[in-house]
Amino acid sequence: MSLRIIFATNNDHKVKEIRTAIGDSLEVVSLREAGIDIDIPEPWDTLEANATEKSTTIHRLTGDNCFSEDTGLEVYALNGEPGVYSARYAGENRSFEDNIQKLLNNLENTADRHARFRTIISLIWLGKEHLFQGVCEGHILTAPTGTGGFGYDPIFVPQGDTRSFAQLSMDEKNYYSHRRKAADQLVAFLRQATAS
Ligand code: IMP
Repeated sequence: MSLRIIFATNNDHKVKEIRTAIGDSLEVVSLREAGIDIDIPEPWDTLEANATEKSTTIHRLTGDNCFSEDTGLEVYALNGEPGVYSARYAGENRSFEDNIQKLLNNLENTADRHARFRTIISLIWLGKEHLFQGVCEGHILTAPTGTGGFGYDPIFVPQGDTRSFAQLSMDEKNYYSHRRKAADQLVAFLRQATAS
């Protein structure tokens, strides 16, 4: 299968991770590569609704098959915060470091560090939407560790490892990752949909 599909994101980290996860089975084209200059808002209070907003916006613009994803870090002791607000936890246009600091402050003196990343992929295939979910359980460190990855990677350790996502290579992160698990389902769906 070598199918071209637009990934409705401007986040280069996400594009690289999805490409590494998917391999050659799919030609993933970022918004920039598709010549689309747009910053799609994420105004809703669920990952599903924001993912749908992004994929349907691009489908309306291009008429092409496309997919988007929305991801949140859900901390159990904080009732699922920051969740859908992960990108703007410390406020609009704040840095990854600010968001991490706010999370560590809110978890100070909390013994329960259990958390999970959850990714929702919204695929628009032949004009119809399909949703896929990937989850990665783990825990939150007490201080940032490692220099790789992006976002909350320096404080998240996936279950089954002792290193933070920021200490792992992209292949190692993908072994555990929420995004890779959702991408696996996307590929399986497309494989079946395009099988002749
Ligand atoms: P988005 O709304 O899906 O772009 O993601 C929300 C925020 O979650 C991002 O700004 C990142 O801070 C964080 N995030 C998403 N995916 C990951 C990941 O794989 N590792 C660490 N942080 C992530």
